[in-house]
Amino acid sequence: MIRRGVLEVLSKDKLSVFLFHKVPPNADPLIPGDITRAGFERILDQVVSQFRVLPLEDAVARLHSGRLPRRAACITFDDGYADWMHGAAPALLKRDLHATFFITTGQFGGQPLWHERIQAAVRALPGPLLDIGMPSLGQPSVATLADRQALVVRLEQDLKYLTLAAREQVLLRLEAAAGVQPESLPRMSAAQLRDLHSQGFGVGGHTINHPILDYCDEQELVKEVAGVREQLQGLVGGAIAGFAYPNGRPHADFSRHHVEAVRRAGYAYAVTTHWGVANSATSPFQIPRFTPWAQREWHALYQAGRNLLLNPVQVPETAG
Ligand SMILES: [Zn+2]
Repeated sequence: MIRRGVLEVLSKDKLSVFLFHKVPPNADPLIPGDITRAGFERILDQVVSQFRVLPLEDAVARLHSGRLPRRAACITFDDGYADWMHGAAPALLKRDLHATFFITTGQFGGQPLWHERIQAAVRALPGPLLDIGMPSLGQPSVATLADRQALVVRLEQDLKYLTLAAREQVLLRLEAAAGVQPESLPRMSAAQLRDLHSQGFGVGGHTINHPILDYCDEQELVKEVAGVREQLQGLVGGAIAGFAYPNGRPHADFSRHHVEAVRRAGYAYAVTTHWGVANSATSPFQIPRFTPWAQREWHALYQAGRNLLLNPVQVPETAG
């Protein structure tokens, strides 16, 4: 097949890592960008099936010892969603595909993911205007579905770049205006995590509260990076080797200092969200990832092929 031949040539000594998030059973009108279960299965069958899927930890070790096969790829997921158990995980098992799930563990202590809280609140807000007394936000309209879609995007963008304490304040005001109790929202449980792990999938750390590391003080940084590893190790009863940087853009969201914190916490590798592929010169602590999102097969394969030509962007690291 031509496409396999092209990928075979382009992929020599390169590692493609695919990144997914929530895989809801049906399209959510409020979040039109999410890949649904059917869309995810289509990507597995049309794009991922053209690659040789390896466990991520194994692939990173092979990358640096020159033993990576052609068309090597890994599958990863970030955050932690209850609906993985009924959608993503069975779809992977059915195709005998390994994946690594990077988990935000605050959920196990009762704290839903911050962007899930935004979505639930915006869905429930009474109209026609939102007024939570924040001059920077103004009084945006929530009269139409398009208004609410735009508000979700805006709030996610704005709240992403706040400290954890400031973000929590806005979330509480938003939830009060919407009449939403965060404890009533769906979230992943520790039992579901153990279930994923016992099915043979990899588990990695993705902080406790999902802050952008560059917005953490030193104490928070250690707690979010090393603390999540300890929690996950306790839950699965084994070593946790991988970490995924929240938001994950080199320079913008993390720097050399944060790479050092990840290294010091005992991880063996870490993944970013910068597109491109890793090669033998890529730091194991800055493995790039890519989300194929195109709906048509030729377009999605073109995206995966083009991604093989992108050199990873990395922050400089201290030697050793
Ligand atoms: Zn995330």
